[in-house]
This record gives sequence, structure tokens and C-alpha cells, in this order.
Amino acid sequence: MQGLMMDWQLTLPNLLERARMLHGRREIVSRTPAGMHRYTYKEYVERVDRLRGALTSLGVRPGDRVATFAWNSYRHFEVYFAVPCMGAVIHTLNVRLFPEQVVFIANHAEDSVVLVDATLLPVFQKIRSQLTTVKQVIVFPDDGKPVDPAVGLDYEALLAKAEPIRTAPPIDENAAAAMCYTSGTTGNPKGVVYSHRAIVLHTLAAVGADMMGLRGFDSMLAIVPLFHANAWGLPYAAVMVGAKMIWPGHFLQPADVSSLIESEKVTFVGGVPTIISALYQHLGENPGRYDISSLQKIMVGGAACPRSLMEGFRRDFGVWITHAWGMTETSPLGTFGNERPQLLELSPEQELNTRLKQGLPAPFVEIRIVDAEGRELPHDGVAFGELQVRGPWVVKAYHNDARNAEALMDGWFRTGDVATIDPEGYLQLVDRTKDVVKSGGEWISSVDLENAIMMHPGVLEAAVIGVAHPIWQERPLACVVTRPGVTLTAGDIIASIKSRFATWWLPNDVTFIDAVPKTSVGKFDKKVLREQFKDHRWPE
Ligand code: AMP
Repeated sequence: MQGLMMDWQLTLPNLLERARMLHGRREIVSRTPAGMHRYTYKEYVERVDRLRGALTSLGVRPGDRVATFAWNSYRHFEVYFAVPCMGAVIHTLNVRLFPEQVVFIANHAEDSVVLVDATLLPVFQKIRSQLTTVKQVIVFPDDGKPVDPAVGLDYEALLAKAEPIRTAPPIDENAAAAMCYTSGTTGNPKGVVYSHRAIVLHTLAAVGADMMGLRGFDSMLAIVPLFHANAWGLPYAAVMVGAKMIWPGHFLQPADVSSLIESEKVTFVGGVPTIISALYQHLGENPGRYDISSLQKIMVGGAACPRSLMEGFRRDFGVWITHAWGMTETSPLGTFGNERPQLLELSPEQELNTRLKQGLPAPFVEIRIVDAEGRELPHDGVAFGELQVRGPWVVKAYHNDARNAEALMDGWFRTGDVATIDPEGYLQLVDRTKDVVKSGGEWISSVDLENAIMMHPGVLEAAVIGVAHPIWQERPLACVVTRPGVTLTAGDIIASIKSRFATWWLPNDVTFIDAVPKTSVGKFDKKVLREQFKDHRWPE
């Protein structure tokens, strides 16, 4: 057939060249141990070119895996584009994982070079000798302090003497550009490989006005780490539109984040609920101390957004938090709580309830829910089953993994999340398949119980787990952390949630703990609690 469009490859060098041509004067700001660092996109792109030259001279070739072990900074972000724009694959290692997991991941991915923050060297040096494929270590220096040549090459010295490479080799859009391992709490982490095409399409969808709506006018603060699911695609989106970028380094305390928002006039923040909750609490405790009036959008995901947080930010600062769902396996944009005219028809309470759902599927992403036999369930907002997803940026197979057969069903990726979908198309997460409490053949949502318990003013955190029961297979046990100075009983907790649930949903017992254990990316680690309470004796 005649008249077909040109077969144009969707690759990351297109984004980099766009930044070079159009965004040269926009700023990239980082908080580093040596203070604030600022430069322009123009300088950024020039350094990316030098880095391509440096890595080429070190022998990095298309397809090679180049790893980072670093916090969010301008240098880390230089690697982020330089590596895929030379046809190699950037692999962001999660610095918060246990050392043995980092070793497993780096060896499994066969990383050939690792770029490390000087501040993380004490951790990195402990595992260096176990990294079997790594030939070169490059250190992002702690400014002013020389890098010990016995440890690695000095990033700045390498860049200073490098011959810049301005062009990319021909890259197939289906070639790998990046990889990330899941932070899952069961089994070994699984590797997810992102193609250039997947990232480009994800970026185009992400910036849509009804999605992130990121614009050149924005000043974007990515608190979500570059090693967590591509920092949700924020870096690519910012480069495409030419937003000002702010990298917080490892300075993630609420006072640091608040002052960054004020000084850099941040308009857009992306971060997990724990960080945004801490920010909200800090702002509340220090009224008038920070001017955060520039803030327009906060995107949270990775865990459910607490009701009190969304309600509070809207009430106190006039900002609606946007709630998104995604996974490392979905690049990560799956669903997004975007605004639509129907919201205007709702009462304030209904509107809040709708915004608290995980949102609508991103363009080109398809979602469905299925029961234990794999039968599709209705989108009635009530029936809940395993969430499955497919689309152009959803994983088709894990990297060299024997678990691939169970990960997909008829081309749909099995998320391991349990959800409802309502007639308007909104997804609402109910639980994880592993966390849902299986009581007498029925499922009880641990998340619903936790949310209800956390509405008690004396409760700081609550996690509900299923514990073996002689009659019902499993029953819910609530593990509760009280606010400092507050004393509560099991009876107080149950009384506070009684009217919201059928009696058989109510926890059989409540135990009080000091803190809910967290995973490397700040989520409740229920595996630890299940182990701790596996022999829990139920009250008679
Ligand atoms: P990760 O790959 O580490 O980003 O983890 C993905 C998982 O985080 C999902 O499968 C969900 O269980 C959880 N998750 C992500 N976003 C949300 C959200 N908005 N609400 C509740 N859970 C979420």
C-alpha cells in the first residue's frame, strides 16, 4: 500500500537532541554533600557527550550493562541518558537493598561498569569483590576530595579528558535502553528490561495534559529515586518538555524537601506516600516557615495514598495529590488519577473517594481483573480479583528468569495485586494476592482494615496480616503502632472500625509493635511480620 508513514525509530537520542536544540537555558539543580549545584541543560548535554566519549574509551559497547549505585543527582542523571544514547543499557542498582541482593542483581545483569557515589563507597566496597562481571568502577567524587585510584576512576577527571561523542550509533527502537530489578519481598529480585520504544511511548503518554501534565514551565522535584522504576519516567518526561529539574541527593528529610520546594519554586513533586506524609506533617508542625505556594501537583504512587494525606494537602495547601498505580514491570505508569469532568458532578466526599482510587488506565494500557480460575470479573466496583495488565510498556518476560511462565497469562502480565474496577473505569487496589487474608474460602482485604485502623487518631501505623487459624485457614491479625504517648487496647481498635465491616472481616486480635518493618522502597514489609507472628496464639 502506498502512502505509509516513514518508519521512524522511537529512541532516546531523539529526546537528548531535542533537549540540545530547545531547552539549553533551562536549569538542572542538585543538592550535593558540597552544597547546591546548578547548571543548564546546555552544560548537561555537553557533559553527556563527554561521558559517551569516556565510556567508549573504557570499552563500553552497545548492549553492555552500565550500572549506577547512586542517589538522585545531576551526575547520575548524566549517566541516565549517556548510556542508552550510546546503545548500551543503564542498570540502576537500588542502594537500599541488602548487600547480597545487590550482588545477585549486578551479577545476574552482568554489569560491566558501575558508577558509584563517593558517599556510598563504604557500602559498595564491602561487595566489590563479589561482583564477578564488573571491570571498571567509576566514582562520583565527593566534591573537593580526591578519589582513591585503588577504589576506582574519578568521574570528573574522566570527563575532563574525554573526547566528546555527539552522535548516537543506529539504535533499533526495540533494543534495551534500561533495566531495573523489582524490589519484591519474595524470592530473588526479577530483572525488567525497558526498550527505547517503550520508554519513548511511556514518555509521550506521561506528559499528556490529563496525565502528569508536565510542561516546560514546570519545576520538577523527583524525590522518587532514579533506581526505582525509572523514577516513574519523570526524568524522560522532563527532558522532553524542558522542565527545570531538581535532584535532592540523599537529603530526603522533610525539612530538606520543604526548603527545596521553596527555594526552587517547585511546581511538581513525585514521591512515595511515606515521604509525602512526612513532608505534610513537617509543614503542619512549622506553620508559616516555608513558602510552598509554587506547588501545583504532587504525584504519589508505589503504595496507597492515605485518605488523611490527600484530604489534608487539599485543605491546608489547596493541592490535590494525584494518585497513580504502577510497577517496575509497567515502566511504571499503569493507571493515573487524572482529572475528568465527571468529578464535578460529585459531592466533596464522593470526589475524595474517587481521587483515592488508583485511577484510570494510561493510554494504550489495558487492565482486567480475574478470579482464581482466570475468569474475567465484571467492572462493577465490587467484584475483586487479580489485576492483569498489558500494553506497549508492560513487561513481556523477565530477564533470564525461570519464573516467566507464571508471570503471564495469555499475554497479560499478572500483577499480583488484587483490585476492583468500577463502571467509570477507575481501578481500586484491594490488596496483594500474597497479603489478602484467606479466611474460610473468602478473601479479606488487609489494606481496607489497615486504612480503617489508621483513621484512629491515636494510631500512627497499622499493618494487617493473615495468620494461620485452626478452623478458618487464616484470620486477620492487626499489628498497630500508636502515636507517642498514646496507650490503646485491642478493644479500642476493634471498636473504632466495627461499624465499617462485616463481623467476619474484623481482626481476631490486635498486637502493638514499635514500628512496621519497611522494604527498601519504603513499603510495609509484611513478610517480616508474618514470620514474626506465625505462631501467634489467638485469644480464646
Ligand atoms: P514496585 O515495582 O516496587 O514499584 O512495586 C509495585 C507494587 O507497588 C504494585 O504491584 C502495588 O502492589 C504497589 N503499588 C504501586 N502503586 C500503588 C498505589 N497507588 N496504591 C497501592 N499500591 C500501589
